Formats: sequence, C-alpha cells, structure tokens
Amino acid sequence: MLARKPIFWIFAVAVFLGALGLVVQQVVLRSYETLEQQAIEQSTEQVVKALQAEVRQIAIVGNDYASWDEMYDFVRDQNPKFHELNFSELGLREMEIDVVMLVNEAGEEVFSAEQNPGAQTYSLPASQNVRTAVSKNLKNMLRERPPEAGLRLLDLNAGSALFSAHPIIRTDRTGPERGHLIFIRVLRPSTIARMEMVSQLPVGVWRVNDKPPTGLPSQIIAWARNSPFSTDRTALTLSGNDIAGYARLRNLDGSSALILSTVTPRAVYQQGRRTAIYLFACIAALVIFTLITAFVLGRRNQRSESLARANETLYRAVVEQADEGIALLAPESHAILQSNPALARLTGYSTTALHDASVESIIENSSLPLLWNILSAPKQVGGVPCELRLRRVDGALIEVDITANPLTIDGRQLICLMVRDVSQRKQAEAKLLDHQRRLEHLANHDSLTDLPNRLLLNQKLPGILERAAASQSSVAVCYIDVDNFKNINDSSGHDTGDEFLRAIAERLRHVVSSEDLVARISGDEFVVVSMAKEAIVFDAIARRITSHLRAPLVFSGREYSVSVSMGVAVYPTDGSDAADLLRSADIALYRAKERGRDNYQFFAPEMNDRVHQRMQLEQALRVALQEQQISVHYQPVMDLRSQKIAALEALARWRHPEFGDIPPSQFIPIAEESGLIVELGEAVLRQVCHQISTWSYAGLPVVPVSVNVSAQQLQRTNIRERVLAICSEAGINPRLLQVELTESTVMREIDRQIGALEGLRAAGVRISIDDFGTGYSSLSYLKHLPIDHLKIDRSFVRDMTVDANDAAIVSAIISMARSLRLETIAEGVETRQHAMRLASLGCGYAQGYLYSRPVPAAECAKLLVSMGTIPNPVDTGKHQRLIASS
Ligand code: C2E
Ligand code: CA
Ligand code: CA
Repeated sequence: MLARKPIFWIFAVAVFLGALGLVVQQVVLRSYETLEQQAIEQSTEQVVKALQAEVRQIAIVGNDYASWDEMYDFVRDQNPKFHELNFSELGLREMEIDVVMLVNEAGEEVFSAEQNPGAQTYSLPASQNVRTAVSKNLKNMLRERPPEAGLRLLDLNAGSALFSAHPIIRTDRTGPERGHLIFIRVLRPSTIARMEMVSQLPVGVWRVNDKPPTGLPSQIIAWARNSPFSTDRTALTLSGNDIAGYARLRNLDGSSALILSTVTPRAVYQQGRRTAIYLFACIAALVIFTLITAFVLGRRNQRSESLARANETLYRAVVEQADEGIALLAPESHAILQSNPALARLTGYSTTALHDASVESIIENSSLPLLWNILSAPKQVGGVPCELRLRRVDGALIEVDITANPLTIDGRQLICLMVRDVSQRKQAEAKLLDHQRRLEHLANHDSLTDLPNRLLLNQKLPGILERAAASQSSVAVCYIDVDNFKNINDSSGHDTGDEFLRAIAERLRHVVSSEDLVARISGDEFVVVSMAKEAIVFDAIARRITSHLRAPLVFSGREYSVSVSMGVAVYPTDGSDAADLLRSADIALYRAKERGRDNYQFFAPEMNDRVHQRMQLEQALRVALQEQQISVHYQPVMDLRSQKIAALEALARWRHPEFGDIPPSQFIPIAEESGLIVELGEAVLRQVCHQISTWSYAGLPVVPVSVNVSAQQLQRTNIRERVLAICSEAGINPRLLQVELTESTVMREIDRQIGALEGLRAAGVRISIDDFGTGYSSLSYLKHLPIDHLKIDRSFVRDMTVDANDAAIVSAIISMARSLRLETIAEGVETRQHAMRLASLGCGYAQGYLYSRPVPAAECAKLLVSMGTIPNPVDTGKHQRLIASS
C-alpha cells in the first residue's frame, strides 16, 4: 500500500488536512464563538445592570422621601416652607435628581422643580416639556412593573431620563396613599462614566430618536428602529478585533428608547483561534510525522528487502561460479545439503548425486580421521586449511585443502566446507623442491664429473673424522693428481681433457668402496677419503687406485696413457683435522711428483722438512735474483753436416754462496711455482744479449743464441716488446736471438700466443719447440704455428740406437718436420752413434755432451773459435735462414 507514488500521499495528506481544518473550525472555533457570544451578552447585561443601578439609586432616596409625614402633609397643605426646607438645590444636585415632581391621588401636579440645563439652579415648576411628558406617561409611570425590570425610562427633550415613582405614605408607612413622588435623572456623561466604572466596561449610549453616532453599524441602526418583535439584545463583530454588544431599552410605551452598547476585544475568540490553529498544527504535524515515518520505514523495508534479494543473488552467483568446491553440511550426519558446480567438477559427481550424500563418500579413507577432526571443531573463517585427499567418482585421488566454517542459516547450525584443488600447487612445490635440490647438488658437486666438490668434501670430512674417532678407526685422505694432464688439455683440446677427467672420475668411483668419498677438488686433482679399522689396509687401497687408473684411455681413436701421482695422509697420525690431513696429503703428493710421478707416497713427518726446504730455496732464489747469483752457460748447437757451431743454447745456472751449485731441475720448478720465473727469464735474456754484444765487439764469430722461455713469461708479459726492448738496450740485432718454448707452453691459449709469436718472428727472432715428442701436440697443428725448429726430446735420442720404437719416433718427427719445412735439432746427443744415426735420418742439427756440456761464456768464446761457426744472417747481411736447409 505504501508503495504508491508520493504524489498520492501528498494529495491524501492535503485532503485530510483540509478536512481537519474544517472540523477544527466547526467544532473548536464555533464553540469559542458561542463562548464569545455569551461573554458579550453578559457584558451587555452588565451595562444594562449598571443603568438599573442608577435607577435603584434614585429609587432608594425617592422611597425614603415618599414615606415621610411632612411630605404626606405637603401634598395636602402645600406649605411652601416644606419644599424650601426639604428640596434644597444642593440636596437635589447631590442626589443628581434633575426633576422632582409631586402628584396627588388624582394625578394632578402638586409640585415640580427642574434643574436648569448647564446651571446649578432649579426652576419651579418644571418646564412644560417635562410636565407634559410626565402627565402623558403618568399612568404607565405609576405602574408597578416597568417594561424592563427596574428600568424606568422617560424620553425628555433634554435626553433620555431615568425616573422613580413612589406612593407617598406616612413615616410609619401607613396609608392611605396621598399621591406620588417622582424623581427624574437625565442621562449625562457623568452617568455614563459611573456606569462604566460600575460595569468595568466601555459604555456607549444612543437615544434612538437622536442622530446615530458616527461609526454605529448600519445594521444596528436598522435593528434599533425595527419592529418591536425583534430581540432586545444583539452583538456584532467589529472590524478590528473587537466585538460589540448592544441592548435595546424601551420607553414606557414600548418604543425603542435607548441603545446601550459595550465593546470588548475578541480575546476569547482569538484564544479560540490560537487554540484551533495550535490544535490543527499539532494534529497536522502528528499526521505528517506519522506518514513520513511510515513512508521512510516503508522505503527502508523495501530497500533492505531488495538488498537482501540482491545479496542472495550475488552470494548464489559467487558460490555457483567459485573455483573452490563449496558444500553445506548437516553437522550431525555430515550429509551434503547443498554443493556448487566446482565441487561437482572436482569430484566428478553431479550436484544431484552429491545431494544428501555423506561427505565421507568423497574423501579417501586415510584422510577420514583428519576430516572428522575438522568437522568436530569447525574453525571460524580464516582457519588454516587442512590437506586431505579427495576420491573422485573414477577413483582418482586429488590433493585438496579443506576448510570448515560454522554457519547459521535461518537459525539452523550448518557447516560450510570449502574444498580447494591443490594438486597443481603440490606439483609446483615438488618441482621447486627438486630444483632446489638440484641447485644444492650443483653447489656441492662438480658439474663435469658429478663428484662431490671441495665444498662438500670440507663439509663431510669433519663428520667422517668424528665417526672414525668414535669407532677408533683410521681414515686415509688420498690426494690424487693426474700426471701431465695439462699436456692433454693443451694439445688435444678441452673437450678431450673433459672426457679424460670424466673417465678418471668413473674409474675412481669404481675402484673405491661405496662408503668411501671421492671428490674432485680442482682441474686434475681428486681426493679419495676411505675409512678402515686398521691403517695397514690403506697401502693396498693406494696401490689399487694407482694401478686401476693406469690403463690407457682411448678417445676418438687416439690412445692416451694415464698415470696419477698420489699423496696419502692417515688420520689420526698425520693430522687431527680435515685441513691438517689435506695439507699432509698434498705434501705427500708433492713428494710423489718429485719421485717422477706415477706413484703414491704416504705422508712422513720428514716431508714437512722438504716443504720447509722448498720454502727456504724459494726465499734464496728471490735473493739470488736481486744479488745476480744467476749466471748463464752456453751449449753449442752443431750443424751435423759441417760439424760447425750453428747456434748456442743459453741455460741458467745458480751458484748459491752457501749451498753451492743448485741444478735447474731444482730451482726452475720452484721459480715456475712462485712466479719468479718471469724475473729469472728476463735476467737470462739480458745477460745473453749483453754477451752477444760483448762477443761482437770482441770480434768473435757470432751465432744466434737460443733462450728458454717459460709459459708464464709468455702469458704474463708482452714477450715481443720485452725481447725487442732488451735487444735494443744491448744494441744487438733481434735476428741473433731465438726462443725455445715447450709444446704445452705454445698450446696453452694458442690463439692468444700466435699473435705474440708472429710479432717476434716478424722482428727476426726465430722460434723452436723444445722437448718435442713429450706432449700430445697434434702434429698437423704445427703447420699453423709461426715456428722454425723442432727440438727432439733427449729421451727419444738417448735410446734411439737401442730402442726401435724411439728410433721410429725420431725418424717420424724428422720426416714430418721436413714436410712442414721445419728444421730439427736433436737434444742429448752423447755418442757418435747418435750423431751418425741422426744425420742419416736427415736431422740437421745436434746438441749434447758429445760436442760440449753447457759452459760459461768465456769458455764458450773459445769453443766458437776452435770449433768454427757457420755464417749467420747478421754477418752476411742476407735475410736468409741462419741454418741452411738440408
Ligand atoms: P732443456 O731446455 O731441455 O735443456 C737442455 C738440458 O739438457 C740442460 O739441462 C742440459 O744441460 C741438458 N743436456 C744437454 N746435453 C745433454 C746430454 O748430452 N745428455 C744429457 N743427459 N743432458 C744434456 P739443464 O741445464 O740442467 O736444464 C734443465 C732444464 O732447465 C732445461 O731443459 C730447461 O728446460 C730448464 N732451463 C734451464 N735454463 C733455463 C732458463 O734460463 N729458462 C727456463 N725457462 N728454463 C731453463
Ligand atoms: Ca731448451
Ligand atoms: Ca730440451
């Protein structure tokens, strides 16, 4: 009903208020008008009574005068003395009697007096007009009952007058009556003022025969002069807020004589109007308020109803479209009362099939206790979900998160179950975990061989030692280094090197027991950690490792011989902790290398002394370089055909002031390891250049001098710049200088080296490959290198006359060098057989004790002269090769 349009309600309220206004006006205002009417009538009556009081006043004195013996007598004798004594002017004036008249029993005038208008005096008899008016009305005047109770009006010329008439009797109030005494009082302003005082009302007086006073309403004038049947009282609302009451008084003959009027403010009516308005306003306000309240409440109700409807639609949509499975359960039976499509998708059952089914039927058995747990204490929203397994209709199991929340719907307690498929998340988690494990594995393992790395070794070793200590066992830490691995790497490439290391790792894995730890700790260094009750078994283990690794490896059709050096330290004798043991094993390894590699050494305390010695030697070498203890010896390189000196090789010599001569085989490795080799190399180079210069100046025959250059010199300095700078320092032609590099030195970072070597060669410095044959250079690669000579290693030369194999190698090197247009120099030529055999194989040059040991410069100068030299490019000035091609 309230849903109707507001305009309807406004209209309805307007109609209602209109009606209300009418009712209020009719009921309230009318009653107030009646009250007002009554009030004005009372007021009018009061005014009339005030006039009656005037009449009563003169009647009282008149009555007094009339029952008086002397008056009684005066009517008879008419003794003038009587009225002179008793009707004094002063007395009459005080009584406000305007006319006094005495008539006898026959109605004849006996005496009359009348106050002169506007004066204090009275004239006797009264005026004719008065006497006529009295004689004309006397009959009526003497009547007991006047027309208006107590009101006796007489119309005189002077105006309307009040009169009283009294029978004259004796003082003792006995009769017979001897005529009448008549007192007349004309209405004057003073009379009206007294009436106003008495009635406490304003009084207006109009003698109807007179001209009506201005402002008197015309209807009152008409009413006053109207028929005798009309009422004698009326009231009239005046303009303004006054109401006037009018009383019509009649003459003795019944004609209209006098209109008395009074005016009062319409206080009652105003009060009534205010009350009516107030009442109306109150009711109207109440009605409007009630209606507005009803309207607002209605609207609110309507809105909350539609909001509730919208909410429900929304919730339904959310639940229907949610990705999470949602089910409403009965708390006791666990029956599914409602479920959403997501739950149906998740379980494979239809929503209808799920309806009334027990929730247990979709949960895997092993998850049931957990489910009951959740259902027995459903958490508030936000509770931590539980991981359960859901069983689909097809029997497949899905990992889900389940949350149960208590819910009250229409006063009924329910459980809202939220089911979220987490199988994908689980998979992702598993992947992540796997990834993390892989990362961890990578961090702790060597990517090439998948063996534990140094990090893991350092982590695990302390634990192994602890266990050994607890079980009173021994632990062997075997430090393994692959012999000549650098050569393989440099000569056959990193891929082969990697294959090689993988194969070694594989072999190591096989040779040790599953409890042993195998780690790769750097390029070609491995560590095997083995625990045993008795240390005695470690020797067998060490032997097994070295021998097992010794079998040759074949990669891409090429055979590589393998050997390792190994140092073994045993816990607890060789060290109390991991660091100690590794250090001891390293020292033992060093010893094994010193022993010519391909063997193993157990740590012995005196090895520490050797380490100490080494450190001392390194320190001494440092000093030696500063104090120029390093000198250079020269060994001739012979031209095999002419048997003359074709060149010299410079070899470093160290004579220590205390230890005496220290062989290069001792100090060169120390110089290499400590990096002092760069300084040493330069020192030799400088000495050589000065020597050449000295010999030149001395006029000796000069041949090129070959200088050994180490890998570090090549790597760490700009060899071309250094060589040329030192040559120019000494003032010699770079053509008088040759450099010797080992195969592995050249192969290391070959791309970088080629540029430097080409630079050197462009300046005239020739280049030899030293110790050729000991490395693994691919011979075909040599043709790309800027080299001039191959120096066949002395190990091949030594046995070539007895070992057919070595002879074949030497022969192969020579023929291969020839095809590459390279010269060959045989090293370590000690016998004539060597020399002859080499010459027959086509080797051009030879160097060895057969001709001369390395000798000091002074001695060498003699050799140059005694043995003779072949012409060199600087001497001839020709840009031809120093050594003539064979
Ligand atoms: P290397 O470059 O192969 O030098 C030749 C070595 O063979 C020298 O040993 C020499 O004395 C030795 N020798 C020469 N003829 C014969 C012989 O008929 N029979 C035998 N058994 N040996 C012979 P040395 O002087 O002891 O030098 C050893 C190694 O030290 C050199 O081998 C060289 O690699 C290195 N070396 C010497 N001086 C220097 C140098 O100034 N710088 C560098 N980087 N290495 C140097
Ligand atoms: Ca050499
Ligand atoms: Ca050599």
